[in-house]
Amino acid sequence: MRYFPTFMQLRERRVLVAGGGETALRKGRLLAKAGADLVFVAPAMDADLIAAFPSAAFIKRGFEPDDLSGARLVFAANDDEELDRSIVEAARAAGVPANAVDQPDLCDFITPSIVDRGDVVVAISTAGSAPVLGRSLRARIEALLPQRMSDLAALARAFRPAVAARIAGGPARRRFWERVFSGPVAERALAGDAPGAREAMVRALNAPQTEDEAGVVHIVGAGPGDPELLTLKALRILQEADVVLHDNLVDDAILELVRRDADRIYVGKKKSDHSLPQSEIGELMIRLAQEGKRVVRLKGGDPFVFGRGGEELEALRAAGVDAFVVPGVTAALGCAAETGAPLTHRDHAQSVTFVTGHAAGGGSPDIDWAALASPAMTLVFYMSVSTADDIARNLIAHGRAGSTPVAIVENGSRANQKIVKGALRDLPGLVKAGEVKGPAIVLVGDVAQFADGRGLLDLVDQSTERPAAIFERAYA
Ligand code: SAH
Repeated sequence: MRYFPTFMQLRERRVLVAGGGETALRKGRLLAKAGADLVFVAPAMDADLIAAFPSAAFIKRGFEPDDLSGARLVFAANDDEELDRSIVEAARAAGVPANAVDQPDLCDFITPSIVDRGDVVVAISTAGSAPVLGRSLRARIEALLPQRMSDLAALARAFRPAVAARIAGGPARRRFWERVFSGPVAERALAGDAPGAREAMVRALNAPQTEDEAGVVHIVGAGPGDPELLTLKALRILQEADVVLHDNLVDDAILELVRRDADRIYVGKKKSDHSLPQSEIGELMIRLAQEGKRVVRLKGGDPFVFGRGGEELEALRAAGVDAFVVPGVTAALGCAAETGAPLTHRDHAQSVTFVTGHAAGGGSPDIDWAALASPAMTLVFYMSVSTADDIARNLIAHGRAGSTPVAIVENGSRANQKIVKGALRDLPGLVKAGEVKGPAIVLVGDVAQFADGRGLLDLVDQSTERPAAIFERAYA
């Protein structure tokens, strides 16, 4: 973050605008919306400018440092770099934050693009790096925010004291507001039915606050890493959470989306570092829910694919806790999409199987290898980096060709994604040569030949035009 975002109270505060033309007019309009006491200073003033601000003060002469006295902010808006620079320097000497319009290098603060819905304002800045991107973001947010959002916010403001008097603070009051903003009150306000919205609000306030204070647990799939792969439902639940329990497969970029005030609890686990045993995670969730909290158990990928979501759900239900599951994009799907390798293909693969490469007590995974021998079946191995050798040996021993294409995808959909391609017989060598540490999936089958894209490693030895010598062709 290069600039610190704030919203400033300017109502009845003096703001100096140095300039008398179009640029000063534009800035003045925005400042007037925030209720600033405007003072313009310039030797010449456009008639438009004077007409636009009936209650502003106009000083018709060149800027003098004394003009800054009592000003909260100053805008140098003369479209004249030298003049604007001297004003900014005078402002700095006087300790007044200054902005030179369209000259970011001179500015103490910059003004964002805004989406204005009355009390609801979204400000967007790209710190001057990409104004066009800023504008396109603004267009998207404009489309997202109903025009009457301002009416809804105004209604909420009017009822704040009544709500505070009637409903105890903390989670109960927050939940009340959540119901307001997602129920009939919001629907009516956004549809332009102000009396109907008020009526619904009064009804909600007078209704007995029966909503039981029992908490709830959502077991939520976070997807493989890219926050854009979250479902809309996951995003909403993250923003309503009181507590989030997460493990190391969940990307920081996704944790950023959790409601700011929510507690975050790291519960492990890497293969060898079980920060909290499974039973304790279950007990913790149950206890938090029984305290009335909205608990989110956030898991990498999908909770029901090698995620132990089933066990957690069972434990919660056995304890009588309300529990729900929100699916996520499992690693196999995320990696397939990222690399362009389809998991099924009319010409190459009629089925796909997700397999764990992890052996419960270490050693070789206990898998029905014969069932995986069909050449028309795509296999996706999870947790398989350390057992690549077993996988290649057993698949070949049970009839899959050593030349079957494989692709290892590490950190799929993340910034540090890596793709390593080759043949099944070289799998352990590929893991070694690609320095794959995981999390990674191993894709086995004809479709793996299509894997391509961001992070693809070229492991061909340029001098021999053959795969680098490190490969062991042990099972040919
Ligand atoms: N529930 C998760 C899987 C958890 S098991 C899901 O549905 O994806 C952990 C394994 O998932 C890792 O060993 C790895 O095989 C795989 N995995 C998770 N995230 C991944 C990613 N971004 N890229 C590649 N593999 C990933």
